[in-house]
Amino acid sequence: MSKRVIVVGGGAAGLMAAGQAAAAGAEVVLIEKMKRLGSKLAISGKGRCNITNAGDISDFIRFYPGNGKFLYASFKQFDNQDLIGFLKELGVETKIERGGRIFPVSDEAETVIAAFQKFLSQHKVKIILGHTVEELVLEKETKVVGVKFRRSRNKTSDSNTSNDQEFCPAGAVIVATGGASYPGTGSTGDGYKLAAQAGHKVIKPLPALVPLRALEDWPRELQGLALKNVEVSIWVDGVQKGKQFGEMMFTHFGISGPVVLTLSRIASHALAEHKKVEVRINLKPALTFEQLDARLQRDFKRFCNKHFKNSLDELLPKSMIPVIIRLSAISPNKVTNEISKEERRRLCHLLQELRLNITGTLGMAAAIVTSGGVDTKQINPATMESRLIKGLFWAGEVIDIDGITGGYNLQAAFSTGYKAGRAAAEYIQSTE
Ligand SMILES: Cc1cc2nc3c(=O)[nH]c(=O)nc-3n(C[C@H](O)[C@H](O)[C@H](O)COP(=O)(O)OP(=O)(O)OC[C@H]3O[C@@H](n4cnc5c(N)ncnc54)[C@H](O)[C@@H]3O)c2cc1C
Repeated sequence: MSKRVIVVGGGAAGLMAAGQAAAAGAEVVLIEKMKRLGSKLAISGKGRCNITNAGDISDFIRFYPGNGKFLYASFKQFDNQDLIGFLKELGVETKIERGGRIFPVSDEAETVIAAFQKFLSQHKVKIILGHTVEELVLEKETKVVGVKFRRSRNKTSDSNTSNDQEFCPAGAVIVATGGASYPGTGSTGDGYKLAAQAGHKVIKPLPALVPLRALEDWPRELQGLALKNVEVSIWVDGVQKGKQFGEMMFTHFGISGPVVLTLSRIASHALAEHKKVEVRINLKPALTFEQLDARLQRDFKRFCNKHFKNSLDELLPKSMIPVIIRLSAISPNKVTNEISKEERRRLCHLLQELRLNITGTLGMAAAIVTSGGVDTKQINPATMESRLIKGLFWAGEVIDIDGITGGYNLQAAFSTGYKAGRAAAEYIQSTE
């Protein structure tokens, strides 16, 4: 049996897996489809790379809706503090920002990629860039013995006849091909095809951490407006399924911003099941309905001779006033002391339950992460090895794991990459 470990994909998970397998003594070949390593890492955190979060690792699991528990074993072996220490040893100092987000002090993702390049070179990992793994080679459908790969196609070389498929033998293969989001970075869902080929179940990949499209036109009028300290809830077929407090923004197609991205996973899943999705924005979450009503009564008394349209300046951002006035169906030229109790209470409702019908997401092209992927039930969380095929390991976003923003997705990629790398090397050595 070959003593080689092949790592498919040179993103966060693959870089960690390749380096760790080599550090543990294996001969490692890393095959990356793109012409460079870490394309997605390079754009993560707006190019600053939010590598992990400073929170207590025992608290991390709840930030992965769905299968967070699958990560217990990986986090136990390689947690956020281990990652910080690992990068420090490679010369990358880190800092903590708002919400516990950890970034390299350089504020440049490239620093992290360079550190991994150094790590891989220290441990003599052979790197093949610009080549795509197309097939896992299996023996008796129970054991992996290598991969078939080919130079990645580009627009000018499609007709190149010398672009033959090659076979690379291996005793273990780690698939770290990422999800299907931001396909321009190389993660185009190839891992799902490899999974299906190996008999693995793939949970339908859906965009997550993604902006949402609204049926209504009025968000377009407010595009660019960011709201802080609002409460956004998401409703599926009339039932509330999630609620977040924080920041959001309006766009020409609908809504985006941190709280919307966090809730988008629920929308994405519900829309895939053709359910009705609605978002309700509470612009004044610090006040009860009655408190808000009292506040409006005070304002209307104070501005008793003003028109309604001129009475909301202290309550709302300027650009929102015409929209709210229109939606309230109260005449803009009504003098405030003529506004009826019923109209005022309707306005309160509107301010605390501004509704939007969600018609879709911006799709995989704009999704920060993919929800869905290789079914965790068929992967051993203690080793990341397939429960179906010996010597086949999985790491990173290709697995049915997705986290919220804040560094959780990269930590999951690094931790599962670590585990897969170490376990693959051990597996190879155990078969000697
Ligand atoms: C814009 C953006 C910003 C983000 N910011 C953050 C952040 O700040 N913090 C955070 O925690 N998460 C962030 N994420 C999410 C995070 O980047 C990913 O979850 C993480 O990079 C996944 O790592 P991975 O190694 O599993 O996959 P990827 O990084 O996608 O790597 C997979 C690699 O496999 C290669 N590949 C695919 N198929 C093949 C094949 N057939 N053969 C060979 N190679 C192949 C791809 O080219 C790619 O390089 C962000 C995502 C995006 C899109």
